[in-house]
Formats: sequence, structure tokens, C-alpha cells
Amino acid sequence: QSRHGPRLKASVSSLPAYVPGRPATAPDGRPAYKLSSNENPYPPLPSVQAVLASALSDINRYPDMGASGLVAALAARLGVPADHLATGTGSVGVLQQFVQVTAGPGDEVVHAWRSFEAYPIVVQIGGATGVPVPLTADERHDLDAMAAAITERTRLVLLCTPNNPTGPALRQAEVDAFLDRVPGDVLVVLDEAYLEFNRDPETVDGLATYRDRPNVALLRTFSKAYGLAGLRIGYAVAHPPVAAALRATAVPFGVSALAQAAAVASLAAEDELRERVDALVVERERVVAALRGQGWDVPETQANFVWLRLGERTASVAAECEAAGVVVRPFGNEGIRVTVGEREANDLFLGVAASAAG
Ligand code: PMP
Repeated sequence: QSRHGPRLKASVSSLPAYVPGRPATAPDGRPAYKLSSNENPYPPLPSVQAVLASALSDINRYPDMGASGLVAALAARLGVPADHLATGTGSVGVLQQFVQVTAGPGDEVVHAWRSFEAYPIVVQIGGATGVPVPLTADERHDLDAMAAAITERTRLVLLCTPNNPTGPALRQAEVDAFLDRVPGDVLVVLDEAYLEFNRDPETVDGLATYRDRPNVALLRTFSKAYGLAGLRIGYAVAHPPVAAALRATAVPFGVSALAQAAAVASLAAEDELRERVDALVVERERVVAALRGQGWDVPETQANFVWLRLGERTASVAAECEAAGVVVRPFGNEGIRVTVGEREANDLFLGVAASAAG
């Protein structure tokens, strides 16, 4: 008998931690602005709150397992058949399923790095091997290098557009050229979590690209532009065999009735939500212009955050932001990612950035 209790898989005990954005409290206990998780700073719309309030009376029941109302609303909104859709517990839940349905021990998953921190984690949980491909000097996916990294063991490629945490979006021409080099039996997922903030006219059209190519799928979320991060709902758009595999591997009832109701109500209120997204994009451009005016080399960003590559100064600048009342997200000795939030919050951050630049 072991004194150490049950033996866990080695791949599990060596998992890197998913570090959540710090709570919005400064070290001395003062409230602070939370610019560390790329959340939407606006509270839920009154129409969404009303739907949630009325859905509460049914939570003694399990939710609709197939999220049929939401799937129908998404199918109508996107112009895709319902059997091309799969919902999940946040897009990170769907991401984990993408790994489950494609890759296991001995298989490789190619992704850019730095990119969304959950990629290496879900790959390792799936027992597969991650193949991280460094970004270019201007913080973009190096699609040439990613194509070169594909081997006969590659089962899945993750492309993040716009890229978290650096900001640039992928262009249609470069994605087409890349996809032409990917074998048809390798699934390529475009993670479009920040799609709605993207204003790059040359950006990849995910829906058109997936329609043309059976090995391309899209990953989307209600957490960012739709402001429903706390309800945990994301979805995939994929060709029927892939979408069916995702549905088959979903955690049963993994999308709550509240999440389904709020997502449907948000699709119905898209005009209002789009105004908020537009305001955040205006605010993003103001922040980027101010940072560049201060002398910072800010990469292009098409998302609701900005990236400052700070190297050894990462932790100290993040601490200065916290002291000023804004919690930002440091990544190792690489840099900080700062969500575009309330105007006052952005101004506090710009104040710290001005002194750190000088
Ligand atoms: N993809 C990317 C690129 C992200 O940045 C995030 C959230 N940080 C997600 C997926 C997952 O978001 P959620 O699970 O809330 O849908």
C-alpha cells in the first residue's frame, strides 16, 4: 500500500497552471480596475439581465443538452446549417474537445507561441505533444515556420486571430497560402475569440475559409464582445463530422440554461452590443496612439488589449500598474497585456506607461 494515495498520470502532475487574471484589488486592499482578463467592461444589457432573471425559476431542471434554441439562433445568424455547430463550456471547453477529438499520445499539435496560454495546457491534458512555433519580430504568427513544423504526426493546428496576447490578426492571403500547405487530414482551428474587435480590412474571413475547406473549423466565444465571460459559453463552426465529434465529447449539460438564454438574448441585441464594441475599438485606438506618442513600440492590435514587450521590466511595470490601481497581466519576462477597459482605467494605465517610458 502506498502512503501517497492514488497515482496520478505524470502528464497531469506536470501541467502548467492556467493563471487567471488577478482580482481587481490592489495590494493594499483598495479596489482597482481589472485589465487582466480581456473582459468586456460593460455590465450585461438590461434585456439580457431580464432574460436571466426569468430563466432562474427553471434551474431545478437540467438545461437543454443540445442548446437547440441557441444553435438555431447561431445557424440563422451565421448562415450555416445547425449540424455545423457545437457549443461548449466557454470556448476553452470547446478547445479542449478539439484536442480530444484529434490528438492523443504520439500526436502533435502545432500552435504559435506566445499565444493563448491554454493551448499547451489542453494539449498536455490530451496526452498529445505541443509544437510551439515562435512569433515573428512584429508579434505575428510565423505561418511559414508553422507550415514547416507540420509532420506526419501533426493532427491539429491552432491559429489565433487576433493573437492573444500580442494583438495582430491573420490576413486572408497568408492563411490561404498556409492552408494550401497543410495536408487535408490535419484539422486547422481558427480561434476567433476577439473577432468582433478586428478592423483589419485584409483579415481572414473565417466563415468563407471554413466553407471552402473541410479541414478548417472556427472557435468563437460569448465571453469578450458579447460580455458573458461569467456564464461560460463558446462554440465551434465545423464540417459535420468534426462538429458531431465535438458534440459527442461534450461534458453533458455543460452549457447552463442561464448561459443559453443569455446568449440567445445577446444575439437578439447585437446592434446595442456592436455600439459597445465600436466604443472599445475607438478607445483601443486612443490607447495605442497615446502609447506610441510616449515612445513605446506597440504592435498592431485588432483585439481588446494591447501588448507591451518589456523583458526584464515586466514584473516591475506590472507592479507599478497595480500600485496605480489597475491590474494588468504580466507574462514571465516577456511583457504585459493590458485589456482596453473603462476610460478612467485606461488613463491610469497610460499614466504609468508615461513614467515607465521616460
Ligand atoms: N481563445 C482565446 C484566444 C482567448 O484569449 C480566450 C480567453 N482568454 C479563449 C479562447 C477562451 O475564452 P472562453 O473560454 O471564455 O470562451
